Amino acid sequence: MPKRKYTRMKEQPKGYECCNKKCKWQGQIADQVPVEVVNGFFDHACPKCGKFEFYGLIENPIK
Ligand SMILES: [Zn+2]
Repeated sequence: MPKRKYTRMKEQPKGYECCNKKCKWQGQIADQVPVEVVNGFFDHACPKCGKFEFYGLIENPIK
């Protein structure tokens, strides 16, 4: 059986991978860039491409 790379719902990720297939940045929330999207509301963006969507990783991210 192939090993899963990404977490499912309710699983605690050990790190995150950028959803952008051309980027594939991996790291922790602390490494992501906080961006104010609506007044007072911050989201976390990829430090490489600026995208806001991430996959949760089962294994620790590659640095
Ligand atoms: Zn990215």
